[in-house]
Amino acid sequence: MRVGRAGPPHRRAQRSVADVVGEGERLAGITLRELRDKPATELRSVGPKLATRLEAMGLTSVLDLLEHYPRRYHDRTKVQDIAELAIGEEATVTGEVKKVSVRRPRNRRPMVEMEVFDGTSYLRLTFFNQEYRAKIAEGTEISVFGKVDLYRGRRQMVNPAIDVLGNPGEATTGVLLPVYPQSGKAGVYTWELRKIAAEMLQRVRVRGFADPVDEDVLRARGLVDRTTAYADIHRPATTGEADAAKSRLTFDEFLRMQVGLVARKRALERDRSGIEHEIDGPLVSAFHAALPFPLTTDQERAIAEITADLAAPAPMHRLLQGEVGSGKTVVALTALLTAVQGGHQGAFMAPTEVLAEQHDLTMRALLAGLNVPTQGSLLGERPVGVALLTNRTPAAERRRIADGLRSGDIDILVGTHALIYEGVEFARLGVAVIDEQHRFGVEQRDLLRGKGHEPDVLVMTATPIPRTAAMLIYGDLDRSELRSLPAGRSTITTEVVGSLPMERSPVYERLRAEVDAGRQAYVVCPLVEGSEKLEAKAATEEYARLAAEELAGLRLGLLHGQLPSKEKEAMMTRFRAHEIDVLVATTVVEVGVDVPNATVMVVEDADRFGLLQLHQLRGRIGRGAHRSWCFLLADPATNDAKARLQAMVDSSDGFELAERDLEIRGEGAVFGERQSGWSDLKLGRLPRDEPIVVEARAVAESILDADPDLERHPQLREEVEDLLGDAVEFLFKS
Ligand code: ADP
Ligand code: MG
Repeated sequence: MRVGRAGPPHRRAQRSVADVVGEGERLAGITLRELRDKPATELRSVGPKLATRLEAMGLTSVLDLLEHYPRRYHDRTKVQDIAELAIGEEATVTGEVKKVSVRRPRNRRPMVEMEVFDGTSYLRLTFFNQEYRAKIAEGTEISVFGKVDLYRGRRQMVNPAIDVLGNPGEATTGVLLPVYPQSGKAGVYTWELRKIAAEMLQRVRVRGFADPVDEDVLRARGLVDRTTAYADIHRPATTGEADAAKSRLTFDEFLRMQVGLVARKRALERDRSGIEHEIDGPLVSAFHAALPFPLTTDQERAIAEITADLAAPAPMHRLLQGEVGSGKTVVALTALLTAVQGGHQGAFMAPTEVLAEQHDLTMRALLAGLNVPTQGSLLGERPVGVALLTNRTPAAERRRIADGLRSGDIDILVGTHALIYEGVEFARLGVAVIDEQHRFGVEQRDLLRGKGHEPDVLVMTATPIPRTAAMLIYGDLDRSELRSLPAGRSTITTEVVGSLPMERSPVYERLRAEVDAGRQAYVVCPLVEGSEKLEAKAATEEYARLAAEELAGLRLGLLHGQLPSKEKEAMMTRFRAHEIDVLVATTVVEVGVDVPNATVMVVEDADRFGLLQLHQLRGRIGRGAHRSWCFLLADPATNDAKARLQAMVDSSDGFELAERDLEIRGEGAVFGERQSGWSDLKLGRLPRDEPIVVEARAVAESILDADPDLERHPQLREEVEDLLGDAVEFLFKS
């Protein structure tokens, strides 16, 4: 069967387009929503059995299939003849599978062996630990990429990457052959997906796609129209066509997101129903006067920006971005106290219990001696009321908090996501601060907002996010930035050290010397993805080992997520009070923990951590006046891991590291899974597509300038609604 662009039309009686898309709409171009509403089974090439298999891959509608894009294009001109392969080289070949066999040597891993023939010669493929490869039928055409080596006098590839190209017995033709993400588990193969794509394109040919973007905009940016784009991404004649199609469809993905974000931002700005806070009250001035340090210029600027928002009738929706240790807490407290001095309440939500506890302590310390004026009390004022609410708050305390929130005796409630639970009701929530936002999603942000009547919202993050990524994640927020650290911070020396005992011993020597000099240290234990329990176990063992060996005689403490909160709290208090020299911990110390006397950070198995996580950990030291050391213990096995560790040595600038991280890891680094609704990208990738994001932002703004409710862009509006779901309802007037 020919699948190429110029393939013959289907011979069998064609159902008319109207069967698929409905009579009345025959002439207008097809919209994505129409295809979203068509089950995949309406396609002739999708029978009930295949439909079940497709469903297992999450493909249920015609739109799902249309947007199931080829993973790559197999270029026949780039293929080598097996007869010409040189030993030691990496190469791509295609051929027919002639023989498949499985061997299960005793006490060894099972092996699948395959013979591939391409007309010039045979190549042997050997797969270890990939028994499913044996399912590939003899006679199947596959493409193979791997390194050629010699085994018992014959050329072979071990564990090469392979793609199944054709149905057994059917040879494929065409220069560029789309290879789809297939699923061995679901049993869906690329040739089936190619057939489906061919049918879809055939059936939409008459009507074509309606284009949500005006022609002049497309022309100005050199973008192809949508009909061409969908045809060419599935069946390009040249790589140029495939690239142009990809650019257009990537642009659409970012455009939808940006229209949603810009519209959300503008809707918030138009809103006049927020609280006009009293900004020149006595509480804030007293708070600033009592600080043991002058504010940095950045802090002053951020406070001015926030204060202007608080005074205005539009509810604030602002992101405060600042390096670890840049002093965001003081800025946040200023916002909270502005609410309090006008008779409102503040909420402060942190991502973990340890952090919530720490913030609670910090706030109490900073607020000591500050009073709120009251009507009821004899003296006409009372101390600022702060309470802490986490999952572990006992029932009696919860009830007390509930009462205090209702009566208004609690001015500031600090806590974890327990804050957004039902039953937590504020009398007059005026300002909500969300710390370390990237761990919370937009929904949680909205839930906290919902605890008051249009409170002002300040979102804080220490994750330095590259500009374009921020445009995606926080595109609906205004931004303030703390770029410079408060003066008097010390330098941190970062070293990567091998994990052998001999290599580590200088690390422990340095640590001991620092403790002798009156400083403190952290030892962070290996990350065990997805298991707090195993992490806790590792930390406990390391604690015991260090106490018996290298760090014998020092005062060690143990901190991990499995400890009851009382114990965690007690441990942090003792470490802060310097009753403990070395804190052996899991990543619970990752964010926010603030002990300026700590000058040494040892990270075990540092190659298991992400770059920004390492940066956060390093942020725990160098917070005081003393020179500090960060030791990353690792024997990195992969290039990515090496690159991450080198980046840590090279730079201490969070923004720079974020850019590096994005390069190393791709956009996964900045989109937590929680952000999925806002980052449903099938083609778009950062930082590669940064220029497209910037263009999409500009187009989104100009469209919304001219047509704020998208009345003249109904289709674009539909697509934004379908992308963002309910979250988008309030954006446009209907
Ligand atoms: P962040 O939350 O941004 O990581 P913090 O608010 O915890 O940083 O501040 C880090 C440390 O710096 C705290 O000990 C804080 O008291 C101190 N600090 C904050 N602002 C200043 C300032 N202007 N000058 C000196 N130290 C400051
Ligand atoms: Mg902080």
